[in-house]
Formats: sequence, structure tokens, C-alpha cells
Amino acid sequence: MTTADSGKNWLTPMLETWRNRRAWILEQQIAIARIAAPTGNESDRAALLQQDWRACGQLVTRERAGNVITRVEPAVAPMGAVECAAPGPLVCLAHLDTVFDADQPLTVRQEGSRTFCPGIGDNGRGLAAMSVLARVLQDPDVRTRLQRPIELVLTVGEEGEGNLRGASRWFDDAVGRSCLPAAAVAIDGPGDCTIVHHAVGARRRRITFTGVGGHSWADATTPNPVHAAGACIAAIARLADASRPGGVVAMTRMHGGEHLTGVPMQAWIDVDMRSLDPVRLHTMSIELERIVQRVIHDESAREPARAVHYAITTLGDRPTGMIDNRHPLVLAAASATRAVGRIPQSASASSDANVPLARGIPAIAIGAGGTGSAAHTANEWYDDADSEIGLERV
Ligand SMILES: [Zn+2]
Repeated sequence: MTTADSGKNWLTPMLETWRNRRAWILEQQIAIARIAAPTGNESDRAALLQQDWRACGQLVTRERAGNVITRVEPAVAPMGAVECAAPGPLVCLAHLDTVFDADQPLTVRQEGSRTFCPGIGDNGRGLAAMSVLARVLQDPDVRTRLQRPIELVLTVGEEGEGNLRGASRWFDDAVGRSCLPAAAVAIDGPGDCTIVHHAVGARRRRITFTGVGGHSWADATTPNPVHAAGACIAAIARLADASRPGGVVAMTRMHGGEHLTGVPMQAWIDVDMRSLDPVRLHTMSIELERIVQRVIHDESAREPARAVHYAITTLGDRPTGMIDNRHPLVLAAASATRAVGRIPQSASASSDANVPLARGIPAIAIGAGGTGSAAHTANEWYDDADSEIGLERV
């Protein structure tokens, strides 16, 4: 689409209509957030949105990986355009999944303009915006102004161990169809001024420690997997300090032991390493393994015959990528941000936009209006005040 500035005349009545439908949009957002969508089990939420898109006249497909897709062609095909030939589509992605388990209570509490519910902003807000976009793109006046096709994609597996599965699948398929998009926009959470154009990469690892175990009195000198895990936690925490600002490390989960009175046979810790720099991610992975080897050596020294062993397994790798702030896509987003009276802010984050950025396809991630906090916690809230501003920017 043209920028909000130059499109003011024809956009104005449509924006006015949507400003008046704020209550409907929030209702939609709450309805979405109330349907559990743990990573890997997004079907119920996907079905709701699939039905919503069909109700407004879009042709919708749900592909094998679980992504929900609709495609809008310009009303008059650009000269020479044949199916997926140039110009490639603009793809808008919003993730369906949440970090919460299926048994997480999804109760909604309202306090003034604030709505409390796990997942209400991330990504209830982005998905509600996709409901609006699906309707906006039905408008004949909008479709005659499209310079290229637009694909709306609701992705599965964006969070945590999902490892950007849905977005990766969509881009793999686009390569298969020789139909690479011209640009991608991930619509993720609330917000109306940040423009994410640096993708934070991640390496997520589980370190498992195993030993022969024994009695906590009779076998007290037996090398102990829980002791090894603890020593690793202490050493890896120091790695996190040393590696800033190039990278950060967080130990996010741990488990170990079988009985109160036994030297354990097993322990594990999960580590989440993040950086904007792929080289730093690589060196952090190497440093991590060195720490583990040193700790295992020390813990096993008392009884090498009953040594603790370790294994490092990959829970997820997220690629890095970036476009700079003079890229036309970033400039367009900045101009749309100013057009709605906000000051654009460059940002880095991990989102579905990582996938295209890592593949050299211009991409950004933006919020869909309103404000929010405590994402990824049971206390998440979303504030609908001035939410039309961010939605207009989208
Ligand atoms: Zn998100």
C-alpha cells in the first residue's frame, strides 16, 4: 500500500469505520486469547480464525504444518504478472501459539481499559489485527490500490520450542513455488512505535548429567549429577555476565534427582543463549561445552570409575538477521509511524521476522496497537487506550 501520508484521502473513511469498531476488535482479541494455543497444539485457535476469515469472504487454506493462509490479489493484476512471478507478494505473519500449557487458566479480568489474560497481547492483539486486515483487504478500493499480492499467514510454532516452525515452513514452501515474497511483516503483540529490524538469534540447549547413583551416606563420594548441574549453573551464570553486550545467557529450567536420600542418577538444565551476532552465538555454544567438560571433570575426579557423563541436546536454533534503518521497508514503517503521530523506534527482538531476515528477505516486526506488559507470564495485561493508532499504522 502507499504510505499513510499520501493515502490519507481514500484511507480516511475506512480508518474512521475501524476506529468506531474498537469494541468489536477488543471482543475478537479476548475471544482469541480465551482459546488455548500451546505451541504444537494451535488447532482450536486456528479453527476460530479460519472461520472468521471465511465469514468475511476470504478463501482460506490450512496447510500441513498448521499455518492458516489467505491471499489477496490486486484487483487489476500488474502488467506481466503471472501467478507467482514478480512482483512477489508482501506477507504478513502473526503467530497463533502461546507459551502457556493447555491447562493454564485463561480467565479474563477487566480494569478500566486494561484487560488481564495470559496471551491477551502476545499474540491476541496481532491476531485480532489479522481479523481486521482480512476485512480491509476485501475492500475493492483497497484492492485496486495494491501494488502486489498480500498473503496473510497465521503461523504455528513461533514460541519457544516451536522454533519458528510455521514461518520456516511457509518460506520453505515459497522457495519451492519459486514465489519468494518481496517483504515480510510480522505482527506481534501490542505497540505503535517500535520497528523490529534486527532479529535476535538463539541457541537453546538441554544439558543432561547422568551418573550411577547410590546411597547418600554409603555412596557419598559417588560423582553426583545434581552437584555437576549446580556447578554448571554457577559457571554459566558468569558466562552470561562476561558475554554482555554481545550475547546473553539464561538458565530457564532445571530438574534433578530421584529420592531424598539417594545420590541422583540424573539431572538436567535448559539454557537459552541469545545474541544479534551469529559468531557470538557460536562462540557461546563452544564456551558452554567447555564449562560442562570442566565441571564434569572436577565432579568425577573423586571416583573416575563412576564418572558423571553429559549430553548436550539442541532444543532450538533461531537464526539472526537484519536490515538497516535506511532500508525502504524500515523507512516505509517509520513514515507510517510518523503519519499516526508516533516517533519510530528501532528495536531488536526474536519473532517470525527472524526467518525471512535470515534468508535475506526484507522483514520487520511491529505491534498492532495498544500497550501491554508481562507477556509470557500469567499476569499479562493489555491496555486498549489509543489502540486505533497502532492499528492504523499496521
Ligand atoms: Zn509474540
